[in-house]
Amino acid sequence: MEVEVKLRLPTAEAHQRVADLLAAYHQVTHLQQNFFFDGENGELSSKKAVMRLRFYGADSRKCIASLKGKATIANGISTVSEEEEEVADAASARACVAEPRHLLALDSTLINRITQDFQVQNFICLGSFRNVRNVFHWENLVLELDETQYDFGTAYEIECETSDPEHARSVLEDFLNHHGIPFSYSTSSKFAMFRAGKLPDMQA
Ligand code: MN
Ligand code: MN
Ligand code: MN
Repeated sequence: MEVEVKLRLPTAEAHQRVADLLAAYHQVTHLQQNFFFDGENGELSSKKAVMRLRFYGADSRKCIASLKGKATIANGISTVSEEEEEVADAASARACVAEPRHLLALDSTLINRITQDFQVQNFICLGSFRNVRNVFHWENLVLELDETQYDFGTAYEIECETSDPEHARSVLEDFLNHHGIPFSYSTSSKFAMFRAGKLPDMQA
């Protein structure tokens, strides 16, 4: 299970203020592109699962495959089943985005197992979005400050993966309140927002 605190920042300004305040604790910036896949007959989605390939860098030099279940999210704390595995041949994985059927032959233990377990005949790509993730080590927490670029808009969020989410949420809330930075509890996963096709404050 992956347990994360997820706090939504309403504006680019709020996101920038957090980045500025935490600048001394910055570790790394990841440029991520996330592609999502289902079986062509909905074999994964019918079981509330989704497969993701996440590529790193403008050159997609690294690829992480993951299988995620349906996230439960309440009061800014998300819980979701997750299995992850690096795909050794990132270039071949990247080529599968254009031709998802080649996923069936990709050298990946996790993807091969998903194919078997869900009896996938063929994969389809559901689409993608980009995420700029700034990672900070602060107050014994690993914070991920995300700028997520969907076709329909940009969203900002702080995530913190932790075994003690109530504590991490309280530390983060104190920090944001102390600096007068507006935030709210995230109410959906990035994937759910991608599927909804709109930001939470956008009209339908
Ligand atoms: Mn994870
Ligand atoms: Mn997350
Ligand atoms: Mn995470």
